[in-house]
Amino acid sequence: MDKFGVYNRLVETIAEDSVYVDELMSKHTSFKIGGLADILVLPATVADIQTTLEVCNEKNSECFIMGNGSNLLVRDKGIRGVVVKIADNFSKVVVENDRVTAQAGVLLSTLSKLVANKGLAGFEFASGIPGTLGGAVAMNAGAYGGEMRDVITGALVIDRSGKIMKLGIEELELGYRSSIIQKNDYIVLEASIKLREGNINEIKKIIKDLTERRTTKQPLQLPSAGSTFKRPPGYFAGKLIEDACLKGVRVGDAQVSVLHSGFIVNVGNATAEDVIDLIGLVQKVVRDKYEVELHPEVRIIGEV
Ligand SMILES: Cc1cc2nc3c(=O)[nH]c(=O)nc-3n(C[C@H](O)[C@H](O)[C@H](O)COP(=O)(O)OP(=O)(O)OC[C@H]3O[C@@H](n4cnc5c(N)ncnc54)[C@H](O)[C@@H]3O)c2cc1C
Repeated sequence: MDKFGVYNRLVETIAEDSVYVDELMSKHTSFKIGGLADILVLPATVADIQTTLEVCNEKNSECFIMGNGSNLLVRDKGIRGVVVKIADNFSKVVVENDRVTAQAGVLLSTLSKLVANKGLAGFEFASGIPGTLGGAVAMNAGAYGGEMRDVITGALVIDRSGKIMKLGIEELELGYRSSIIQKNDYIVLEASIKLREGNINEIKKIIKDLTERRTTKQPLQLPSAGSTFKRPPGYFAGKLIEDACLKGVRVGDAQVSVLHSGFIVNVGNATAEDVIDLIGLVQKVVRDKYEVELHPEVRIIGEV
């Protein structure tokens, strides 16, 4: 890809301070890992996203969409093409009775506090998931018995040709950590959520309890991308990994967390290669011992 050609075309329309060349992805991922992206765009408007898609199509460049980077492992060689980060600029929230419409870049933690303060119940499960609403819809993120599928009623998305569409809950095909967004490469612009009226103090108490459970059971002080593997049917990944005596095992600075074996953490300067090798090691040991296949939940992207 001719990155300067792409850059020059992008800044014809998009503000220069929103387009970065050779941006270090470790600055944009919760794992604090990842090489250089050729170009990173921080769109301020839907038109900026449409322009970026148009330029990528015209220049035959890959275009990867990210939110808060909390479920991503970016390889050490970085990303060839354009990364579009949908974050703070897309964080408008409108609440009408028990219905909420929010832009894709709002953080789940911010949104859960906002709706809690309005006495709306049903979103507590999402309070500690460190992603954006767009990422959560794409992943059908969930925790403690709740998932996005329970509260989402629809989403405004844009396809790779730049066409904006409204999708209802059925059309979103929200499954276990999967959705039509990932399958069809749609981009979430906003999502509609239906909650229920509740008691502010009770809602806040649930959030406090869930936060306590997370802080005592998850290695939140160390960089990670959350649960490394999806839950294999009939098992818990963390328990299988712990039973296979892999707790604390390291490859370079990537380590199976000593607090929660379901997490791989970056204990210093782990490379993506360290994490990928550790994922492979964990998969092999668990396969050999228990004949169970572990599939990464973390999305591994970038140049091989
Ligand atoms: C400490 C920790 C705890 C976690 N706990 C949980 C948990 O309890 N439950 C859970 O489900 N996850 C958990 N995660 C993982 C992660 O927070 C979720 O998957 C979250 O939904 C990812 O959102 P994000 O904005 O960071 O997306 P990113 O990591 O940036 O991207 C993830 C995927 O979503 C896509 N995406 C992001 N934004 C958009 C958009 N606007 N439109 C289209 N696609 C988009 C990306 O292309 C990518 O495929 C945890 C992670 C960490 C670090």
